Amino acid sequence: MSTNGKPRIAFFDFTGCEGCQLTVIDALQTYPELLDVVEIVEFREAMSEQAEAYDIAFVEGSCCRESDETRLHDIRERSVYVVALGACAHLGGVNAIRNRLDMDETRHYVYGDYAEWYESYEPRAIADVIDVDTAVPGCPIDRDEFVNMVKLFLQGRLPQPPDYPLCIECKLRENVCVYLRGQVCLGPITRAGCKAVCCEYGIGCEGCRGLISNPQIEPMRRVLAEHGMTEADMQTKLSLFLTNQLSALVLEEEAARV
Ligand code: SF4
Ligand code: SF4
Ligand code: SF4
Repeated sequence: MSTNGKPRIAFFDFTGCEGCQLTVIDALQTYPELLDVVEIVEFREAMSEQAEAYDIAFVEGSCCRESDETRLHDIRERSVYVVALGACAHLGGVNAIRNRLDMDETRHYVYGDYAEWYESYEPRAIADVIDVDTAVPGCPIDRDEFVNMVKLFLQGRLPQPPDYPLCIECKLRENVCVYLRGQVCLGPITRAGCKAVCCEYGIGCEGCRGLISNPQIEPMRRVLAEHGMTEADMQTKLSLFLTNQLSALVLEEEAARV
C-alpha cells in the first residue's frame, strides 16, 4: 500500500501496440472515481514517475527477447500481483504468428543486413517466463472488464476471466449467429467476456481472448471446413491469436500418447 493507504498500481509494456494501455487511459477517463481508490505509481504512457514496489503490476506486451526476461523477473519480485494485460501478454498475441516461421529468415526479412544487430527470439506469453496471477484478455482489453477486475482486487478477491465459450455470451445477447450469414467464427472455442462485440457487429470472432479450457479443436476445424475454409485458411485464422496455445495443446496430446 502507498502511504495514503491506497493500493499501488503500475503498468509496464513489452512488445505490443500499446492499445491495451490506451484502453486503460480511456477507462480512467470514463471512470475517474477509480483514481480516488488506487494510486497509480508507474505508467510510462501517461506519467514520468516511477516506484520501487507495486501491489498490482499490469503487464502489456509479449516477451520477445531474452533481455525481456530479466525485466519481467524484476517486476515479479517487486509486485504482490502480476496481471497479463491483453492478448500479447496473455497469449503471445499476434507477435506469436512468427513462431510458425523460420526465425532467422524472419529476422533477415524484417531487418535485412542488420539482423544481427537486433535481439529477438520466439514471442511468448509472460506466464511462460514468470508466475502470473490473472489476465485481462483481449486485443485490446475490454475496458469494463478491466475496471471490474480492479474493483474485485479492491475487495480482496483475485479476479479471473470467464472460462466458458463466447457462444454463450453471444446467445445471451440475442445476436444472429454469423454462420447464418455465411461467415465463420471461433466463438465455440474462445473465452467469453468481451460482450461478443465482433459478432454483435456481424463479424466472426478471431479468438483474441484465447482458448477456453478443454477446447474442442477438431470439431471446430470440421465446422470451419464445412463452411468452406481450406486447410490454409484455417491455419491463418487459428494462428492470428492462438499459435502458442495450439502448439502447447499439440505437445500435451503428444505427451499423453507416450
Ligand atoms: S493485445 Fe492487441 S491492443 Fe493490446 S498491446 Fe497487444 S496488439 Fe496492442
Ligand atoms: S456468432 Fe460466433 S460466438 Fe456467436 S453464436 Fe455464432 S459461432 Fe457462437
Ligand atoms: S468477439 Fe472474439 S475477436 Fe472479437 S473481441 Fe471478442 S474474443 Fe476478441
